[in-house]
Amino acid sequence: MSRRSAISWLPSALLAVATVAALIAVPRSQPVGEPVGATAHADHSVGAARVERIRTAPGPGQPPPGGKARPDARDVVLAVHGGAGAALDRETTTPAREKAYRDGLATALRAGQDVLDEGGSSVAAVAAAVRKLEDDPLFNAGKGAVFNADAGHELDASVMRGSDLAAGAVAGVRGLRNPVDGARLVMEKSKHVLLSGEGADDFGARHGLATVTQDYYWTQARWDALIRAKEAERGSKTAARSPEAAADEQSRGTVGAVAVDREGDVAAATSTGGMTNKLPGRIGDSPLIGAGTYAKNATAAVSATGAGEYFIRGAATSTVSALMEFKGLGVAAAAYEVVVERLPRLGGTGGVIALTRDGVFDAPHSSPGMLHGYLTEDGDVVTKIFPDESPANT
Ligand code: ASP
Repeated sequence: MSRRSAISWLPSALLAVATVAALIAVPRSQPVGEPVGATAHADHSVGAARVERIRTAPGPGQPPPGGKARPDARDVVLAVHGGAGAALDRETTTPAREKAYRDGLATALRAGQDVLDEGGSSVAAVAAAVRKLEDDPLFNAGKGAVFNADAGHELDASVMRGSDLAAGAVAGVRGLRNPVDGARLVMEKSKHVLLSGEGADDFGARHGLATVTQDYYWTQARWDALIRAKEAERGSKTAARSPEAAADEQSRGTVGAVAVDREGDVAAATSTGGMTNKLPGRIGDSPLIGAGTYAKNATAAVSATGAGEYFIRGAATSTVSALMEFKGLGVAAAAYEVVVERLPRLGGTGGVIALTRDGVFDAPHSSPGMLHGYLTEDGDVVTKIFPDESPANT
């Protein structure tokens, strides 16, 4: 039996280098006839060990998905994002870098697929997918997390289960190798929802999670980004660069996942190093249930990325759910309303990935780019990294 039929069938010190001064019930499906935007494309393979179909999105010249009520895809069981922000440019992105991004997203999707194929829960699937992205230095989560203003790293993560609204999160952790595991641990092994700082690190360590020192998170690219941010900060006093532009430049790389399992239960997870050059102690939307992450079987699983302060103020991910539940919107219309209409009115750009238990998926973003990908019940993987594959919704 296919996964889709099963779903409907079952009720389912670093370098403490002081020298750096320098996001009623809902209809179980979208309206009949609601078109799906993205279609199949050229095959790519990720690794020789596995023969698999990896599809990319439409190339230049092909019609974009478009339309605020149109989901990007149907029959999706898992989706991931690798952050919203300034778009990758086809002209200047080397083939090696393109491959690295697509492989990173596809590897995360395949890790989640393995869990789902074995009958694992959507929570386990999103955790597995996010863990892979945390381990990939290209993304701003776990290894490769951005730097705080003081050249340290403080990481945030959260997870939520759609069947019973159970949730867990960690904020400002400094030594967990995989903050998403800390978030899941808080959900499953504590009576709390959110642990922060040292308490979160200690809780994770006491339960056997892998710990690391701050230098583990270091990457040259993030270091260079910190230096650039410091320089821009100094320059902004004269150049008057908008905070939004600065945020877009800096925010790419947060990771997240949404999934639906054989029981028809949805889950969402999000993990981040936050924003480059953020003040120590700053906590973004990613670990906040209802802002960066939300999951409810009756509506959708949603993971956000973007300018966190706005996603907090706009209660981004829970608003997507509430618009579905109380206004009767489909997931695509609800996500569009939040990402393209509400948050930009506050001043915030970014995007979400959103998935219903029926496999309807959408990934609207108001930022120029949002790295993301999804896995269908048939095992197809689609990755989208360039704006012509996934145009910004404006
Ligand atoms: N939302 C994250 C934060 O504000 C950043 C991002 O998504 O890039 O911490």
